[in-house]
Amino acid sequence: MTKEYKLNVETPKSFSFVKRDIPEVTIEQREEALKKTHYNEFAFPAGMLTVDMLSDSGTTALNDRQWSAMFLGDESYGRNNGYYVLLEAFRDCFERGDNQKKPVELILTGEKDIDKLMEELYLCEYEGGFFNGGASQLERPNTFLMPQGRAAESMLFEIVRNILNERYPEKQFIIPSNGHFDTTEGNIKQMGSIPRNLYNKELLFETPEGGEYEKNPFKGDMDIEKLEQLIETVGPENVPLIYTTITNNTVCGQAVSMNSIRKTAEVAKRYNIPFMFDAARWAENCYFIKENEDGYKDKSIPEIAKEMFSYCDGFTASLKKDGHANMGGVLAFRDKGTFWKNFSDFDKDGNVTNDVGIRLKVKQISSYGNDSYGAMSGHDIMSLAVGLYQCCDVNYLSERVGQCQYLAQGFYNAGIKGVVLPAGGHGVYINMDEFFDNKRGHDTFAGEGFSLELIRRYGIRVSELGDYSMEYDLKTPEQQEEVANVVRFAVNRSMYSKEHLDYVIAAVKALYEDRESIPNMRITKGHNLPMRHFHAFLEPYPNEEK
Ligand SMILES: *Cc1c(COP(=O)(O)O)cnc(C)c1O
Repeated sequence: MTKEYKLNVETPKSFSFVKRDIPEVTIEQREEALKKTHYNEFAFPAGMLTVDMLSDSGTTALNDRQWSAMFLGDESYGRNNGYYVLLEAFRDCFERGDNQKKPVELILTGEKDIDKLMEELYLCEYEGGFFNGGASQLERPNTFLMPQGRAAESMLFEIVRNILNERYPEKQFIIPSNGHFDTTEGNIKQMGSIPRNLYNKELLFETPEGGEYEKNPFKGDMDIEKLEQLIETVGPENVPLIYTTITNNTVCGQAVSMNSIRKTAEVAKRYNIPFMFDAARWAENCYFIKENEDGYKDKSIPEIAKEMFSYCDGFTASLKKDGHANMGGVLAFRDKGTFWKNFSDFDKDGNVTNDVGIRLKVKQISSYGNDSYGAMSGHDIMSLAVGLYQCCDVNYLSERVGQCQYLAQGFYNAGIKGVVLPAGGHGVYINMDEFFDNKRGHDTFAGEGFSLELIRRYGIRVSELGDYSMEYDLKTPEQQEEVANVVRFAVNRSMYSKEHLDYVIAAVKALYEDRESIPNMRITKGHNLPMRHFHAFLEPYPNEEK
């Protein structure tokens, strides 16, 4: 046996080879920019930042295979090569487990055998899953490519609202989730329904001894008891959909256990309610299950994904997150499943007279181009198809989740209060109530004050996902209980080194020690705008509390 030379540090798993310089910006220059953009974080010029952790959405570094696949992007208007490859990548990653076929290789290697391409790519028939193929996709459309997640959501909720309005005019519905994302919540409100977030808040903000849990406690789980209670109280006929977000972004990017998903599916089935995923971070969630849930240690990410997706009736997903790509999204539902049955109309013989898939497709065509590309370019589609396979790579996932944990642990060790532990899969969250020693009220938007002060002093941008963004002051008392008043430090995939993270830790430590001087914020314009954080104006006012 050859001797092994082990080190007590992690072995690097990748390196980056594209570099962008960070400009030197003065505090006066940042102050001027903050004032001239009405203290709206989204409007602050990225070119003036030192570290931008606003979002990991579409912002992250692509890998070498994605860049090379983009050269092979086919920009044809109807049924470009990428369309077939992408649907196959979906089937491979969500439905086939360890039996992936990887037909993307046919395109990457320039296959010219037309019989082979017809048989393995162009004319494959699939039905019964989330991604009908060939004639079945035309007869019963169930897969809708989209440029991003919220486009998939808004299309879904618009069509669902129209169908419900035809059947029950003027009625209001409730859509529960373990934690709706801000745009999901916005889309549900715009359809006149009420979003509810049924997670366990006490568990979320519990801090483990010494800052470390032995096993991830799956703080993103649906509170099944609350879910059952809600359905019983309002009646199942008033709950058209049940959602689960994996991982649970709004609830601090926390993982959701397979056990919770299975139980939620059972409840949904009992009441005949379609069970939907918001699956933006399906791969990270599979990784957490693999590492922490009994029985999954030896299973691959695609095997775990296969089981996970077997429990839902449909899903919307942003495919700009995780290891995916810069652009992409999808809406899919199970062929002839509960979603299709509940939202299509049938005649007395059981023949479908108004197929929800066709209604969705009409909307898709009128807003996003045709179903072959859904407002994505051919090269984006290729990049996404290759990115999906990267999401299944455990090395990639452990590096990503490991960076988040490094940042969270760094905050904790620096003595900063309110760090949510363990870290989520794509970012680190700090509870602003605890950070400010529970001294600031819900109307001070101190989390925004924190975020803007972090930009002003150190050129670091994060996103507030608490009282301001989640519209605490516009909610009912029961919904207010469900708001987690946090800010998020998104960790962009494959972009940061330890030096970046150490800079952020040092900056937040310094700001924490000077937290009394962080201003509160007031909204000067756009208080009641939907998803106001994207476009409202703010101004700081002094924290007078002594
Ligand atoms: C990002 C995200 C969305 C919205 O997706 P976009 O691609 O940004 O439109 C929806 N849900 C979750 C959980 C997300 O993380």
